[in-house]
Amino acid sequence: MKYKRILLKLSGEALMGDLQYGIDPKRLAEYANEIKQIHDQGVEIAIVIGGGNIFRGVSGVSSGMDRVQGDYMGMLATVINGMALQGALEDHGMLTRLQTALKIESIAEPYIKRRAVRHLEKNRIVIFGAGTGNPYFTTDTAAVLRGIEINADVILKGTRVDGVYDCDPEKNSNAIKFETISFEDVLKKGLNVMDTTAFTLSQENKLPIVVFDMNKVGNLLKICQGENVGTVVDN
Ligand code: UDP
Repeated sequence: MKYKRILLKLSGEALMGDLQYGIDPKRLAEYANEIKQIHDQGVEIAIVIGGGNIFRGVSGVSSGMDRVQGDYMGMLATVINGMALQGALEDHGMLTRLQTALKIESIAEPYIKRRAVRHLEKNRIVIFGAGTGNPYFTTDTAAVLRGIEINADVILKGTRVDGVYDCDPEKNSNAIKFETISFEDVLKKGLNVMDTTAFTLSQENKLPIVVFDMNKVGNLLKICQGENVGTVVDN
């Protein structure tokens, strides 16, 4: 395996599957299957999941809500998603732990780095919920932060697009996909891989990012085996 320890970032929206809102159990089961394939190969897996399928802080603001209040609601949404994913992974026979940046001790452990690493060493999948625990941040930033803390080899950003393009492939059929690209070129070309805070944190700490299509069966395993899937952003 090319990667021994990964941080998988899944967006909340991905969990909607064919639904307009919330969590599609079919999609959850598909993701659990994908994750099981790399777990069976001994890859240590940590996961950060977004909350956009349930609530985003900024959308609260547009309807008159206080931003900080909205952001905490967004963080709680990521905990709901984390619990759903935890259930699906355990249904597929994997052991898991949910650790949250906000304390909700009846349902999850508080985030403790050393404990998270120990779980990974014991082949438990660790899901990090509640983002960074701070308003004004995103789950992409949480993914990079936790990735650095636990010494992950890579951030695998599962999206519905199969990599980084020179322009939006959903709007332009001539868009060209990069197999690899440097952090610097992403910034120079003004491409969108992650929000700036997350992106520069990854760059400064030399943590590569692979952007790939999580909805294509087998992609996650291929990446861990070292195949060219998606786009690798590296120094
Ligand atoms: N959020 C936050 N701090 C964090 C992570 C998330 O305040 O460290 C809130 C923020 O309101 C965000 C919401 O949680 O809109 C859901 O996260 P995100 O939008 O990153 O989820 P995704 O787009 O990946 O589904």
